[in-house]
Amino acid sequence: MMIETRWTDSFPLMNGESASSFSLRLANFLTVRPEGFLKSAFGDPRSLAHAVHRHDRLEFLSDASGLDPVALSRAFVLPTDGSSRELAVLDFTLSENHLDQSVRRVSPLALSLDVAASTPPYHRITWCLRDLRFDPATNAPLISACDHCGRALTWETCSDPGTCGRCGRPLWRAAAPHVPMTQFDLFLCDLFHPNAAVRWDRRTKLASPLRNWPEGDLIDLLRALQRVQRLFPSAHSTDDAVGPSVIEADGSISEMLNQNIKAAGSGSSTAVTVAAAATMAVLKESPRPVAEFLTSLLVSRT
Ligand SMILES: [Zn+2]
Repeated sequence: MMIETRWTDSFPLMNGESASSFSLRLANFLTVRPEGFLKSAFGDPRSLAHAVHRHDRLEFLSDASGLDPVALSRAFVLPTDGSSRELAVLDFTLSENHLDQSVRRVSPLALSLDVAASTPPYHRITWCLRDLRFDPATNAPLISACDHCGRALTWETCSDPGTCGRCGRPLWRAAAPHVPMTQFDLFLCDLFHPNAAVRWDRRTKLASPLRNWPEGDLIDLLRALQRVQRLFPSAHSTDDAVGPSVIEADGSISEMLNQNIKAAGSGSSTAVTVAAAATMAVLKESPRPVAEFLTSLLVSRT
């Protein structure tokens, strides 16, 4: 009986919900003046975007919601024990540059499924990922602007995770513009899928040294290869962006990485030196694990 009472008393965190969304829903539930609650929680009612980083307020939110702090910690972006720039989001390992809360991305389809299931429409923490254009659970497009008033969706104006803060449009009814999914989009959806079996199935297709790489490093690796590809666009017959198929074998990564140097090989030795130096410069800009891995695959020119 006691346990039952406690359960009904705690305010639920939805599956994969962000702390920004949870705090706002909790504030709306507890008080008619949610901005007062948010000010006590975070010091500034407008800092909801940053709430995902405020794990220092875990105890406050746990006390206010009656929710177990361990369960609630999954709503936050957490520093890992490793490198200081390494962050954990759910079961994923990323760094700050992979996150973007300057806009509020939502999937109208995911929100409509919440409403159909009679659960509150809420913001998923994976939607904070900068490169994600589709919801990993449904493969449906994410939007960051209201289809009714056309304004950008931001946390500053947000009064409910399911509606537009400017015009009140229920976003579960919003039309998402038709955006074709690229291989990169599909790869990201699999990589961040809520089901671990789907994630692992995709990882088994990767070149063996990459299968256990953190998600953030895999994104940075593809971005580095795309920058290498863009160095000398005239050297290639196609300007399609490097897709995930390139990182499915050591050989194809190496080929992509060295193609500018090889193409220059038919010209002067100066052209080869320039291509090699430009490729090295791209690698040096990349985060360390990516730079080290790619440098090891660079052809040695003695
Ligand atoms: Zn609107």
